[in-house]
Amino acid sequence: VRESEGGPVQEPVELPDVRLTHPDRVYWEDVGVTKQGLAEYYVQVWPRMESFVVNRPLALVRCPDGAAGQCFFQKHAWKGQSKDIILAKDPEDDEPVIAIKDLKGLIGLVQGGTLEIHPWGANLKNLEKPDWINMDLDPGPGVEWPEVIEAAIEVRERLAACGLKSFVKTSGGKGLHVVAPLKPKAPWEDVKAFAKGIADSMAEDDSSRYVATVSKAKRKGKILIDYLRNGRGATAVAPYSTRSRDGAPVSMPLAWDELSPDIGPAYFTVENAVQRLAVDDPWKDFWKAAVALPKPKKK
Ligand code: ATP
Ligand code: MN
Ligand code: MN
Repeated sequence: VRESEGGPVQEPVELPDVRLTHPDRVYWEDVGVTKQGLAEYYVQVWPRMESFVVNRPLALVRCPDGAAGQCFFQKHAWKGQSKDIILAKDPEDDEPVIAIKDLKGLIGLVQGGTLEIHPWGANLKNLEKPDWINMDLDPGPGVEWPEVIEAAIEVRERLAACGLKSFVKTSGGKGLHVVAPLKPKAPWEDVKAFAKGIADSMAEDDSSRYVATVSKAKRKGKILIDYLRNGRGATAVAPYSTRSRDGAPVSMPLAWDELSPDIGPAYFTVENAVQRLAVDDPWKDFWKAAVALPKPKKK
């Protein structure tokens, strides 16, 4: 039982029946979050996280010595990995991809020192047809947070004009992600072209604020509308995933009207995320809102 500062004493969190070695190992030194604390966090957010991480190829950031230690970006199996992590065939990969199908799998990832979970935007049953678009907003140096919020709202409006409903989350790093659910009908190529179309049109319409190409030189004071999360094999951090950065931040789903200068990209952390479970799930209609990718607009 942990005591949060000034707050109520939390109920003990029951972990699924999965082996967790060295539960007291500290993963985020600055805030004292341990491996056990990470597992408990995931047990609590699991009902809201599940549909975004199960049965998808995953890339992981594994940091066996914690966020301050050496981390590995990893898409394939490793020696001694939990039996609750499953392997799946990607026809374009010689090695199987990794996935989870339940909470045990997620705790299995924690057992392996996973501090970040980055799913594909496609399900294992439909690997060639993405079921979401992720527009990743990356502020360059000198960009103020309210401008990032404006960019997200701009993306939302452009998606809405094409008939797509979108949802916003903090990245847990520096930016925001605007995510639109799709019925998995169009192939990667089309979804990526569509996302590029949104990014290009924003850069064309306001080149003083937005860029759509990943050239650092151009980014000073500008926001990169990074559409490249939408290619086959590309990944983006999952809703509710922790980040291997100071403070144990998480990528937190928000309601659109929650966007505010007070809630920065790493505002939500392992420590304050759980209290949000008392408020309505801002992404509860995510999958209900899925539509097929619209046909590209003629210029
Ligand atoms: P931020 O808000 O700080 O931009 P982010 O999660 O959007 O946070 P980006 O740097 O914009 O981070 O995107 C990096 C993406 O690239 C990740 O989502 C990840 O899925 C992918 N990626 C590919 N290779 C790597 C790697 N070696 N290390 C980390 N991420 C990688
Ligand atoms: Mn980003
Ligand atoms: Mn990016």
